[in-house]
Amino acid sequence: MAEFADVIIDITHEKVDRPFQYRIPESLKALVQAGCQVDVPFGKGNRIRSGYVVGLSDRAEYDISRIKEIAGIHAGSVSAESQLIQVAWWMKERYGSTMNQALKAVLPVKQQVEQQEKRWIRCLLKEEELRQRIEEAAKKKYKARERLLRAFLDADVIPYEMALRTLNLTRSALKPLEEQGVIALDSQAVCRNPARTYLQEDKAALMNGGKVLLNEEQQAVVTDICRQYQAGIRKTYLVHGITGSGKTEIYMELIDHVRRQGKQVILLIPEIALTYQTVLRFCRRFGDQVSFIHSRLSAGEKYDQFERARRGDIQIMIGPRSALFTPFPKLGLIIMDEEHESAYKSEITPRYHAREVARYRAGLSHASLVLGSATPSVESYTRAVQGIYGYYKITKRAKKNSFLPKVQVVDMRQELKEGNRSIFSRSLRSQMEEKLAKKEQVMLFLNRRGYSRFLSCRSCGEAIRCPHCDVTLTLHQNNRLVCHYCGYQIPRPEACPSCGSPYLAPFGTGTQKIEALVRTEFPGARVLRMDLDTTSGKGGHEAILAAFAEHEADILIGTQMIVKGHDFPAVTLVGILAADLSLYAPDYRCGERTFQLLTQAAGRAGRDEKPGDVVIQTYSPDHYCIETAAAQDYESFYKQEMAYRKMLHYPPACVMMTLLIGAPEEETAAAAMALAAGVTANYELSVIGPVNAPIYKLNDIYRKILYMKCENYDILIKIRNQMEEGLKEGGYGGRIGVQFDFLS
Ligand code: ADP
Ligand code: ZN
Ligand code: ZN
Repeated sequence: MAEFADVIIDITHEKVDRPFQYRIPESLKALVQAGCQVDVPFGKGNRIRSGYVVGLSDRAEYDISRIKEIAGIHAGSVSAESQLIQVAWWMKERYGSTMNQALKAVLPVKQQVEQQEKRWIRCLLKEEELRQRIEEAAKKKYKARERLLRAFLDADVIPYEMALRTLNLTRSALKPLEEQGVIALDSQAVCRNPARTYLQEDKAALMNGGKVLLNEEQQAVVTDICRQYQAGIRKTYLVHGITGSGKTEIYMELIDHVRRQGKQVILLIPEIALTYQTVLRFCRRFGDQVSFIHSRLSAGEKYDQFERARRGDIQIMIGPRSALFTPFPKLGLIIMDEEHESAYKSEITPRYHAREVARYRAGLSHASLVLGSATPSVESYTRAVQGIYGYYKITKRAKKNSFLPKVQVVDMRQELKEGNRSIFSRSLRSQMEEKLAKKEQVMLFLNRRGYSRFLSCRSCGEAIRCPHCDVTLTLHQNNRLVCHYCGYQIPRPEACPSCGSPYLAPFGTGTQKIEALVRTEFPGARVLRMDLDTTSGKGGHEAILAAFAEHEADILIGTQMIVKGHDFPAVTLVGILAADLSLYAPDYRCGERTFQLLTQAAGRAGRDEKPGDVVIQTYSPDHYCIETAAAQDYESFYKQEMAYRKMLHYPPACVMMTLLIGAPEEETAAAAMALAAGVTANYELSVIGPVNAPIYKLNDIYRKILYMKCENYDILIKIRNQMEEGLKEGGYGGRIGVQFDFLS
């Protein structure tokens, strides 16, 4: 047993960003381990502070008589596996944060959870009666009631709050059902396993429930990965399967295989795709072996789920980014669905990418990592091409008679030329009319991600770009066009620099405006709109999606929120109103994002047996991102995108490190940045800037940014460390904010 423990004091400050050595008293020797939260005397006054044990040793690092002793173990603390501490250490090194910040991202926080009363809705009917009631409700078009009753086919009890939220029910809708003896409202002490509540009594049946027979393509992937797993091979795999190709079924088989070996599994899903439908699918298959976390859980609830994982009460954890830190002692597999999603990148320190951390953790735990996507990130696909990742491609939809939709690209410049100034092309309009007449559903998609105001020409389709950086210039309030990378700026031109046309306008239409237009142009249609405005209230986006899935509306208008999660079998037409919107964001990844969004949006059409159609409206029909998305041709998109990245030295052709420095005085920010930027002179790498950050003044802080590109990650880390040193020595310590970010 170790004599000494390295302890990090639990405050976020650079000065304590190193472990202090403490002696472990005899009475605690059996208890102290890496990850423990302990109380220790600290500083001159020996005030008792709390800290984390991040290492153990038998040797004193300095004069033994001066080493203080641990005062006690923090009551109720989770001692995370030393692996997680190692993960934290690695994150600190790679992304630049204090060990405390890294530990806070990795270790669950214990919090007092008050024993709150929770309510449940219990179904009092036998199955036959229930089915009868469902039929009645359907006949009378009591949509909300029908939804609730249908949910009872899967579960006897449903949490009250969830029912209101995800099934779009109102309190008054429940009243009559209660009076008629259909349901009862129960109160009981809090039961913090979200999964258990979906369970029916017959667990055995559930454990095998929801299983489908895999098709040949699916089975081939499962067989190969399982064979390697069996042979002790652990690696990273990329499953590249088109939308609806049955990737989720593949995950379930893999999970089952690994679970049967006594190992545990983490499945990462972007929060927006983690819907009630998905939850039910996994509960049916895995019963109470599975648990979920999401951002709406309180810290205490999350802690409980992690505790259950640590104790081995559950074997499968499903959730967004932070589920990666589930303290499973026998982790055997990590799966990352929709691996290309930007939500996997943390935008708070440590600014880690879950894909990279997942690889590291998998390595430590001797686990495999499976990445899945219909539109893999350029980074992952590159590794697959290089043979670093195993690679599987699935080209067919899983459901019989379901095929990829037919895609038509409409040139909006031509529409204008021929006198159509509407936001609907003639083709989209006529197809909408046709589908609505057949009582099929339509989705209208406004591609707004990465949206910023830029100027584009309605005649030739050109967007005005920076001559140095190949990104669009952003239109500012003072009527100047500014490059957010290099600072280049020009006054707003009167005419198009390419063709001289005066039809030069800021791009972009809001979803609200589109809704109004749809209502006037298609007066008979029932319209739902989904964007930040309509989803922020109670009910949220799930309620809207549920209503649309129940065919309570004919047309759903939305932003990227609508492309994830739900299956809408009756949607046969997807209209993409302005494919260019995300194409000209001031970011080197905007082409990739556009391709992903268009492909994913198109994949919403024709999920069932009725064939699907997609109309992509654009001012740049010849742009490779739009052409390849329309052709659903990933390989050719990748080839062109990678050529562009190589030419301009953007990741993954190299690693990009950004340094952001902020200070309340402009001069301080500039001087500190100049000092830091000086470090780059000693290295061979390409540097852009320093320039003013895209948002130069934020909360009265002036921000400067520097971009550094290099093929070698380690060199960038060296530069970062040197910059941090230099700034400290230069006396900038507490006067500026410093933030490093890595893109690789
Ligand atoms: P993805 O995750 O690739 O989008 P899913 O796993 O959600 O695809 O599958 C899409 C649809 O096809 C789902 O409704 C699913 O139940 C169905 N499905 C998947 N695999 C099969 C199969 N082997 N046989 C029949 N239906 C399947
Ligand atoms: Zn520029
Ligand atoms: Zn022009």
